[in-house]
Amino acid sequence: MDLAAVGNDVERVIVSELDLQQRIKELAAQVTSDYKDRDLLLVGVLKGAIMAMADLSRNMQRHVDMDWMAVSSYGSGTKSSGVVRILKDLDRDITGREVLIVEDIVDTGLTLSWLKSNLESRGAKSVEILSILRKPTAAKVEVNVKYVGFDIPPDFVVGYGLDFNEKYRNLPFIGVLAKHMYT
Ligand code: 5GP
Repeated sequence: MDLAAVGNDVERVIVSELDLQQRIKELAAQVTSDYKDRDLLLVGVLKGAIMAMADLSRNMQRHVDMDWMAVSSYGSGTKSSGVVRILKDLDRDITGREVLIVEDIVDTGLTLSWLKSNLESRGAKSVEILSILRKPTAAKVEVNVKYVGFDIPPDFVVGYGLDFNEKYRNLPFIGVLAKHMYT
């Protein structure tokens, strides 16, 4: 779906499709090199990380295992609550595994900080985080995100897996949702 198909729902594009794909390739190369001769289990956070997981994994020159978790975040609003609930857990035991969490965006950091300690407490050998987007101004909790795609302003964004009321995930770029959509 392109910008024209969403009319004025999207105020402006902040990361183009080209820039996203270029950065994903760089991140995939970095991860491939950092995890050389190591185990690698990618854990995608549903549903926002679907596009990132698909593009990242296809750009990695190695075998990867993939698993998925779904945790609750914003519900239908645009503010982080900090309340994390597991909606879908991993399929497999991760004891001794080298886990890389793949996330769409880190805003307050509450979700990821909770998720990282949750996976560590299951006996993973290592747990690192890759997030396509980061809103640094909103960081409430110190969480070490090892791989970051882009630092963006604290606007509510959609596209490339990120939704508003389950829509806009299939935009190939990141755009700022127009204020009139939620005010
Ligand atoms: P945090 O716990 O870091 O505040 O929030 C993380 C989750 O909130 C993300 O995984 C995402 O689901 C949601 N989120 C945070 N900022 C945005 C945003 O700008 N747009 C959308 N669509 N979701 C967001």
